[in-house]
Amino acid sequence: MTPDPREAGEALAAECARYTAMGWMRGTSGNLSVVVDRDPLRLAVTVSGKDKGELTPDDVVVVDAEGRTDDPVRVPSAEAGLHGRIAAVSGAGAVVHVHALAPVVAAEHWPDGVELRDLEMLKGFGRQAHESVVIPVAPNSQDMRVLGDAFEAGFRADVPALIVARHGVYVWGDDLYQARHRLECLEWLVRFKVETHRR
Ligand SMILES: [Zn+2]
Repeated sequence: MTPDPREAGEALAAECARYTAMGWMRGTSGNLSVVVDRDPLRLAVTVSGKDKGELTPDDVVVVDAEGRTDDPVRVPSAEAGLHGRIAAVSGAGAVVHVHALAPVVAAEHWPDGVELRDLEMLKGFGRQAHESVVIPVAPNSQDMRVLGDAFEAGFRADVPALIVARHGVYVWGDDLYQARHRLECLEWLVRFKVETHRR
C-alpha cells in the first residue's frame, strides 16, 4: 500500500509514461490507481483529460470506493468507480486500465471470453504454462455500475484481468509493479492469440 497520495502520484505518473511509450495510452485514454487506504477504501487515481505521457505527481486525485472525490479542483477519471469496485472485490493494491489494441481485437473474436493455453508467458500471469486461462469479456458501458456488475459476474480470484469489448483492458495486482508485469504478459498472450488465429 502507498499511503501518501503524492508518493502515489509520482509512481502513477511514471507508470503512465511507460504505458504511453508502449502506445497503450493514446490521446488522454487510460487510467491507473493505487489503494491508499483499505478501511474505508480510498484510491489515488489519475486525473481525467490529461496526456498520460506528461502527468506530474499532482495529477492524481483521491476517490472513495464509488469513484467519488471531495477534491475541489481535480477531476478523477470517469472510470474511477470501476477501479474502486475491482480493488474492493479482488483485494488488489493497484489497478491499471489501458487502451491496448490486442485485447480489444481478441474480444471482437471471442466475446464470451479469451482462452489462453500452452503458453510460456502464462507464468508471468501467475499461472503454469500448460494451464488454460479464460480472460472474461464485458460489454462496454458508460455506466460504471453496469460495468462493475459485469466484472463481478465474471470475477475469479485467479484471473486478475478484464477485457471491456471495443474499449480496453483492466489488470490488477498487489502493487503497480505486479499489475504492470501482468499487463505486459497479458498483452503478449492475447496478441499471440489474435495473430495466430486462422480466419
Ligand atoms: Zn478506458
